[in-house]
Amino acid sequence: MRQKRGPYATAHRRSETSRKPLAVRTEKSTPAATRAREEWAKNQLTITAYHEAGHAVVLWHRAKFYGLSIPDAVIGEIRISVPRKYFGEWGRVALNNIALCANKERAYSLACSVAGGPIAEHRFLRRTGQDARPLEAFLADIPNNTPPSEAIPNDLDRLSQHASAADTAETEIIRYTSDLIGIPSIWRAVEGLAAALLRKRTISGREACKIIEFSIYDA
Ligand SMILES: [Zn+2]
Repeated sequence: MRQKRGPYATAHRRSETSRKPLAVRTEKSTPAATRAREEWAKNQLTITAYHEAGHAVVLWHRAKFYGLSIPDAVIGEIRISVPRKYFGEWGRVALNNIALCANKERAYSLACSVAGGPIAEHRFLRRTGQDARPLEAFLADIPNNTPPSEAIPNDLDRLSQHASAADTAETEIIRYTSDLIGIPSIWRAVEGLAAALLRKRTISGREACKIIEFSIYDA
């Protein structure tokens, strides 16, 4: 069934060559190779859950406190899934009702929410000991691992491809977003939403907003 989605979405893909163990890249169907592939896919799905949650929580925060719109009117369906062959789309956050770049504040909010995906992913990988690199090095490497995939058009394209922090605007957006995700209540929301995504795989925007708000205000 084709999923209903907003006019824009951040679609997260991984390339064929990204960080895959040899057993995953081979076509072998021995029990060991199958187990290795399953383990790898499970871990990638967890990483993707944090990545998508990062996009959504930053968007929620900007929408709630910077007047983008009410959060559950902006955030659409969020989903994660293991793609066939492993190098397709792993996750997606649909964005609803956004006239992109109608004003500066809105464009800034969207850029932050795009940056929120890889930044949350990086924080998760650091905390679980899977990647010790500083954020800048992690982001600089992402274009090699992740093909251009975020479907936000026009002037956000470069950022949306998770490009390295080359110019001032990007550096500022990355610093701001990284600080935001580091706030304990915001990180709690990322963890809460990631856990819910891993349980359910598909979550409506409205439900995502409830989970985020519960994590921030009631936990
Ligand atoms: Zn993304």
